[in-house]
Amino acid sequence: MDQTTRVDVLVVGAGFSGLGAVIKLGEEGFDDVVVLERAADVGGTWRDNHYPGAACDVPSHLYSYSFALNPGWSRAFSPQGEIYDYIRRTAERAGVREKIRFGVEVTACDYDPDRGRWTVRTTAGEYDARVLVLGVGALCEPNYPDIEGFADFAGEVFHTARWDHSVPLTDRRVAVIGTGASAIQVVPSIAATVGHMDVYQRTAPWVLPRMDRPYPRLERAAYRKIPGLQRAVRALQYASRELQVVGLTRTRSALAPIRALARAHLAIQVRDPELRARLTPRYEIGCKRILLSNDWYRALTRLNVNLVTDPIERVSPRGVVTADGVEHPADVLVVATGFHVTDSPFFERVRGADGRTLADKWSREGMEAYKGTTVAGYPNLFVLVGPATGLGHSSMIYMIESQLAYLVDALRTMRDRGLATVEVREAVQDAYNAELRADTGETVWVTGCSSWYLDAKGNAPAVWPDFTFRFRDATRRFDLGAYHRTPTTDPAALQETTR
Ligand code: NAP
Repeated sequence: MDQTTRVDVLVVGAGFSGLGAVIKLGEEGFDDVVVLERAADVGGTWRDNHYPGAACDVPSHLYSYSFALNPGWSRAFSPQGEIYDYIRRTAERAGVREKIRFGVEVTACDYDPDRGRWTVRTTAGEYDARVLVLGVGALCEPNYPDIEGFADFAGEVFHTARWDHSVPLTDRRVAVIGTGASAIQVVPSIAATVGHMDVYQRTAPWVLPRMDRPYPRLERAAYRKIPGLQRAVRALQYASRELQVVGLTRTRSALAPIRALARAHLAIQVRDPELRARLTPRYEIGCKRILLSNDWYRALTRLNVNLVTDPIERVSPRGVVTADGVEHPADVLVVATGFHVTDSPFFERVRGADGRTLADKWSREGMEAYKGTTVAGYPNLFVLVGPATGLGHSSMIYMIESQLAYLVDALRTMRDRGLATVEVREAVQDAYNAELRADTGETVWVTGCSSWYLDAKGNAPAVWPDFTFRFRDATRRFDLGAYHRTPTTDPAALQETTR
């Protein structure tokens, strides 16, 4: 336990971002890379979210690495299992599995300014790394609601991201708390199995139909055999998603057609005016993530499903008590209340040059980074899926690959110029974020709803407020001028960085 492993680049997490990092770094000749993964397999959020009905709401061709397209997707929107398999296969084919230490949890990352290196403590010993890459993801720490009596519930309780498949649901009374992206997939998938289900809605979401369909064998063969076809479809999917950015960030009237479509979708699927009224969102479309489902509303019209809109007052040992005093009995409590995004506990484990944790810095000063990736006061740290990189409308893998290009170019630049450390200049980071804040002020995300895009101060530090190709442009090259740097003096380190 007390041995220290010296490594050039240490990556935390083996989901889409961490895995992408080790693959892309390897292509550039950075081989001394170790990935630490707390679970027993790669896959991140797609490994953990195996709740019934879990699927991606970004089209399959777009929701994959550009360097590992998969012509074999079975349908337009891939189910969780297929994405998980895809990630595992990609790791296998890239030959990076042996670089991953599974079952190792990172407990503390401390930057040592005297040595210009990171000391990383884990449940399986200590690492000493020149560069630290965080690929811990934004949607990895389940958020359990702060509801009185929650711990006293006598039945089974689990979060959607920790689904317990051993708990029987057939003919039982199930309570689902939350009506976000996870809940709207779970509820229709188990509605026919359970005896009775109460769905607790605090805010009605905007829901659009999902244009899903299976890909016939012939179509899959065409993607495999016709050069460029899959990339062309992917480009079309990208462009059509990107059109939403106009309405989300600039011209609100551009959202009118999708608002009308969502209203028509609700009106067609829910005939009961009282239920429809309760399902009608009271905030601007797009302020929270727009959900896609063909069967959410239908599930709520089932006789054994009850939508509860009275606020939850507390959880009792036997069920959920709402503000009107009614106790709704339940055998199983499904918590679909999302994740700690802007307040991830991992940020408490990362200490910069002055000993402050990222959590402390970000909770006081706002969750800010430069180009979503580097942070003043934290040299040689690269945060993937960092501040202001989140998306509600398109593929996060596009953003991740943009960050990977920046990371690889940064390390290449350091190698070519013999640099030991790079640290973004505070003034540059501040100016970048002032601009982002001004842009975000115009967006739909700050029009009065609450969402994981926002921090405790009501700012939207989690989301990218512009077209995603602008982020791609900004991260294409590492802009060394924005950084303080120290040259490598240690000949051994120089050899390491110039190898
Ligand atoms: P979420 O979007 O944050 O939704 C959480 C839900 O729980 C909301 O309805 C929220 O209500 C409710 N809630 C939270 N605390 C509550 C409380 N104390 N009492 C009652 N209700 C409470 O979480 P999620 O559904 O897990 O989705 C998170 C993100 O994961 C998504 O935005 C998406 O990016 C990703 N995701 C993607 C997919 C996909 O691709 N298909 C699927 C699942 C998840 P309020 O709205 O009132 O806050």
